[in-house]
Amino acid sequence: MEGTVGVDIGGTRTRVGAVARGRILARRAFPTQGIAEVKDAIRAVMAEVGWARPGAIGVGAPAPMDMRGGKILGCPNLPHWNGVEVTRELGDAFACPVYLANDATSAAIGELVFGHRAHDFVYITWSTGIGGGVVSGGRVAWGATGQAGEVGHMVLDPDGPPCRCGKRGCLEAIAAGVGIARAARERLGERLSAREVVDRARRGDAGALAIVDEACRAMSQGIAILWEVLEPELIVLGGGLTGSWDFLGPKVLAAAHGLARTPVRVELTPLGDDVGLLGAAALPDHFPEEWRSG
Ligand SMILES: [Zn+2]
Repeated sequence: MEGTVGVDIGGTRTRVGAVARGRILARRAFPTQGIAEVKDAIRAVMAEVGWARPGAIGVGAPAPMDMRGGKILGCPNLPHWNGVEVTRELGDAFACPVYLANDATSAAIGELVFGHRAHDFVYITWSTGIGGGVVSGGRVAWGATGQAGEVGHMVLDPDGPPCRCGKRGCLEAIAAGVGIARAARERLGERLSAREVVDRARRGDAGALAIVDEACRAMSQGIAILWEVLEPELIVLGGGLTGSWDFLGPKVLAAAHGLARTPVRVELTPLGDDVGLLGAAALPDHFPEEWRSG
């Protein structure tokens, strides 16, 4: 029995890996393009590990999707993937079952299977955008159509900055990389990456520090809401901005502790950048039975 292939499509980078028993045996990472590049990468990792075909393929993508049909729906962030029937195309190419899910939900599966292995937790990706996945009683909470866990679009301030989703004041619009960069453009008059804003704040720049403090406060509000509503054992964070956790973490935790009634436990995923890839590879085992075709 061969292992599975995980495909983690990110807004900027795509990761593809051949995975067996929780180990990534071969991997490729490249700037996100279309499905042709993903097929090439799958062929490359299979050749490297000597598999004739994968046991199954799991794909995580940061896009609205029809999970039953395995199709990505209109997504401005991933122009090459609009309308792509992912499960049909990859299934035809590799003659194996293929499953498609939201990338942050896939990452939550990675955390469930290979991370802290808690049974009740919320996984939050804190990166260019903010996504999430909820695990309750050891099972993924998929929601009615598989879109559960969109913690980035909790509205924290209805009069706040515009969000990519069309609303205002979403957690993502305030705290994610896109929100931090926009605040820097509007308030500091400079085009800076979120990382650059955080680095300036670290050096004591007052304008940058105010933006970062607002982002951390919004993240702490989001965490406190999830903590009270779901009573998880812990909240697990991953994503690019957690690379600055030594600076951001104390701000987030201090505020979150003040907003929740019981001590909030927040941990970084021990899987680092691989959480999404490992989760995509484990998706075939966790995909909801009723949405499996054939
Ligand atoms: Zn939003």
